[in-house]
Amino acid sequence: MEKYERHPFDVVVIGAGGAGLRAAIEASSLGAKTALVCKSLLGKAHTVMAEGGIAAALAHVDPQDNWQTHFRDTMKGGQFLNNWRMAQLHAQEAPDRVRELESWGAVFDRTTDGRILQRAFGGHTWKRLAHVGDRTGLEMIRTLQDRGVHQGIDVFMECTVVGLLKDGDRVAGALAYWRETGRFVVFRAKAVVLATGGYGKAWKVTSNSWEYTGDGHALAYEAGAELIDMEFFQFHPTGMIWPPGVMGILVTEGVRGEGGVLTNSEGKRFMWSYLPEAKRKDFAETPEESQKWVDMTVAGKQTDARRPPELSTRDNVARAIYTEVKEGRGTPHGGVWLDISFQDAERVKKKLPSMYHQFKDLADVDITKQPMEVGPTAHYAMGGIRVDPETGASTVAGLFAAGECTGGMNGANRLGGNSLSDLLVFGRRAGMGAAEFAKRNAQLPSIDETEIQSQVHRTIAPFERRGEDPYSVHSALQDVMAKYVGIFRNEHDLEEGLRQLLSVRQRIENTHVEGSVMFNPGWHLARDLENLAVCAEATCRAALLRKESRGAHSRTDFPKEDPQLAKVNVCAKKSVEGMAVSATPCPQMPDELRKLFE
Ligand SMILES: Cc1cc2nc3c(=O)[nH]c(=O)nc-3n(C[C@H](O)[C@H](O)[C@H](O)COP(=O)(O)OP(=O)(O)OC[C@H]3O[C@@H](n4cnc5c(N)ncnc54)[C@H](O)[C@@H]3O)c2cc1C
Repeated sequence: MEKYERHPFDVVVIGAGGAGLRAAIEASSLGAKTALVCKSLLGKAHTVMAEGGIAAALAHVDPQDNWQTHFRDTMKGGQFLNNWRMAQLHAQEAPDRVRELESWGAVFDRTTDGRILQRAFGGHTWKRLAHVGDRTGLEMIRTLQDRGVHQGIDVFMECTVVGLLKDGDRVAGALAYWRETGRFVVFRAKAVVLATGGYGKAWKVTSNSWEYTGDGHALAYEAGAELIDMEFFQFHPTGMIWPPGVMGILVTEGVRGEGGVLTNSEGKRFMWSYLPEAKRKDFAETPEESQKWVDMTVAGKQTDARRPPELSTRDNVARAIYTEVKEGRGTPHGGVWLDISFQDAERVKKKLPSMYHQFKDLADVDITKQPMEVGPTAHYAMGGIRVDPETGASTVAGLFAAGECTGGMNGANRLGGNSLSDLLVFGRRAGMGAAEFAKRNAQLPSIDETEIQSQVHRTIAPFERRGEDPYSVHSALQDVMAKYVGIFRNEHDLEEGLRQLLSVRQRIENTHVEGSVMFNPGWHLARDLENLAVCAEATCRAALLRKESRGAHSRTDFPKEDPQLAKVNVCAKKSVEGMAVSATPCPQMPDELRKLFE
């Protein structure tokens, strides 16, 4: 009898959020025998938490919109470090992916003439986000899950992948364990798709759930793949800050998209003071113009009024809030006020139902009557696995990736709403790429039994070691990231942060857990911490190398952009000496696309 449970598949997709589900649907529809493995329950991925909407140039509300403008907005938001081809495919294909989702049963909010309604978000020229109130992710995942399950995908839930298996240079499968029993499972595969999301749990104040420990980033890195743009981590400007137990929970940008106003403790609407000079002309000049934009938007009408300053890009709003608080103009709990109570209460409840209940239930604040207290929260990883835009192929044969665990699409900063569309566009492409790879390489690669054994030993090692408990070490890692690798950075802090991270990594390698392998969250965390350590180190090293301020990466010692660094992505790769980071040239945009910016 085999020592471990084993399953052969053509394609194994790791992660069942939007990207993983969409990849699995595509692979299976192309005839590949497909497995979907996820460490939580099916339907409980991060995607379910997405609130504001899916960005796609459907042009239902603003008929002027088109893929070219969406492409331009995305490249500008990413400060031109995006992989241009990813941004182009994304802008071109997002409308079809949203319509496809609708045809599979997703019920979006509607315009008065019955088409998918779209709302405004920061950095998007036109109203572009298809949404379902502030529960868009729930509708998206419900629809994809129904579609996938009925298509016959094999689902392995509450099953954590701890390592990729290789046959020479090619990926040959994955080793996982059941979270309930602790028993190991071997997946053999012709192709593997990583869709494991981000790594926001490297920071204490975060909108991310326990699942976001950068597992896919680290699995790919260990297997020899490249991680790019890791210095760019998005701090969302508005997370809850009070009471302490809910600190970090996201307050959707939809609140500002619906007209929410930011003020400091002196009652000043401060965002006007933080608009970058080059972009000032795109924003309302007065509160009256801003209000006109809100009124017309609420009424679903076109307007020549410009958008409120609160809809500046996320990096800019987050820095503004951080600065207001640091300079002593913060609220009692160290944030700023976000107010939407001046709008019709019934409309607020209809358009922002989750926000209404979130504040009522968790903070005893009625947002139809009182302002919300908000502050920046770690939110989204722009950096991740380098992939081929057309197929989602990583630089390791047989290994594909899609969604938040990849880099390239967003460059230096992501626009809100561009993640859900990214999952659909590149989830589909990675599923297709993996299925075609499996067809071309029809023989199941072989599995190295000693490799399995060594990964099993590494995973159960915390029971035998005598170091600290994983919770204390996790907290130490988060403290280092908050103190030295946060919204504002400088050489001295980053050097110190790196020194401390390397010492935290030693503590991680020595963590100890008690009990058995049967549902043991401490043991799970001990393994997850190894992944977080890879992501944290890559972020810190890449941030040190990028000696400029660009997008979400702000260096107080290099406050300006450096034109030379506009041409490179920082890449982290495993080497015999440890993690190597280097600047690699950005792919050059062709002339016909370059013309769009003239
Ligand atoms: C509160 C909130 C609101 C947001 N709102 C929006 C929005 O309105 N619009 C927008 O575009 N974006 C939004 N985002 C961002 C967006 O939701 C995410 O970027 C996106 O959902 C990521 O999808 P994914 O498929 O890459 O990963 P996820 O949806 O997180 O799925 C990851 C999957 O990987 C699995 N997994 C992880 N590690 C392992 C492992 N080792 N073994 C097995 N399985 C593993 C998990 O169990 C999960 O199934 C929001 C994010 C948050 C937190």
